[in-house]
Amino acid sequence: MELLGQRTLDLPPPQAVRDCPRLSLVLPCFNEEEVLPETARQLSALVQRLLAEGSIAPGSAICFVDDGSSDRTWVRISQLAEDYPALCGIKLSANRGHQNALLCGLLTAPGDVLVSLDADLQDDLRAIPAMLKAYREGSDIVFGVRSSRVKDSFFKRATAQGYYRLLAALGVRIVYNHADYRLMSRRALEALREYGETHLFLRGLVLQLGFRTATVPYERAARFAGTSKYPLAKMLALAWQGVTSFSAYPLRLITGAGAIVSAGSIGLAAWALAIRLFTDQALPGWASVVIPMYFLGGIQLLGLGVIGEYLAKVYEASKQRPRFHVEKLCGRTFERGGER
Ligand code: UDP
Ligand code: MG
Repeated sequence: MELLGQRTLDLPPPQAVRDCPRLSLVLPCFNEEEVLPETARQLSALVQRLLAEGSIAPGSAICFVDDGSSDRTWVRISQLAEDYPALCGIKLSANRGHQNALLCGLLTAPGDVLVSLDADLQDDLRAIPAMLKAYREGSDIVFGVRSSRVKDSFFKRATAQGYYRLLAALGVRIVYNHADYRLMSRRALEALREYGETHLFLRGLVLQLGFRTATVPYERAARFAGTSKYPLAKMLALAWQGVTSFSAYPLRLITGAGAIVSAGSIGLAAWALAIRLFTDQALPGWASVVIPMYFLGGIQLLGLGVIGEYLAKVYEASKQRPRFHVEKLCGRTFERGGER
């Protein structure tokens, strides 16, 4: 609906759509050739079952997004699309990272509701019917929340939990223990389309959309096959996105630190003056010169670094580069199929 040139998203889907929506499952894949056949088998069985129960409509799809893999992931996806009619594929022209690949899937796949999940079967599929139930009851975004992390390594568990706490302390709104296993309704997706963010942190962004939300707990399993495609460096990059995309707190922290150090140095100067005026112990000191010099130098460098990080974001955002390019499509879901 158009209103004064702006699209409005105030038309809720009719209850018939809520009761039996066309579902698309969206899975970003990066070098996942080992796990794809099993993922396709399990998801296809799930879709068949939900169709038979009448809880999703015909035309529901399983959509793999190949994030510029260097192995035979795309070949696998194309083969699987021939074996399973509901399966389709989107191939990105290069590796753009999980968040961009996921966004591409969310903005390209058809359907009244989309569920995003990992390709490695770590996300328990039994949560999907529960998510659909929450959608039927009126929620537009349903967050899959990990009820336990026993299958994660100690390091992953500790860093992840510490990170959620840090985000909360920085005033970033986030659903605790929710990653990217989530259901979104068509109107929530259309709202997401209007965000032009270059640096994506989708789990933070979807909370900005509003709409009614719900959570569904699930147990996170171990990876079915292959190794993690999220090494420490990528994890840290995503964590940093989460902080800098949603909080200006680090900048304020510098202002605070600057104020404290300045106040401290005024006190120090007063103390030095008092020694000079009222005692005869004033020695031209090494410590009083050298220590503040290093200390202030450090604070300044830190401050410049953090400001630089934010400036870099502005620089990247000002270029307004596309976040992904689709190279090919496959599967019956995309009518024209194959090359486009
Ligand atoms: N992934 C992606 N692009 C990347 C890295 C990862 O599309 O550059 C996908 C990956 O194939 C998987 C999901 O993102 O479907 C999550 O990655 P992974 O399971 O390796 O992360 P972990 O569960 O170890 O955090
Ligand atoms: Mg995984």
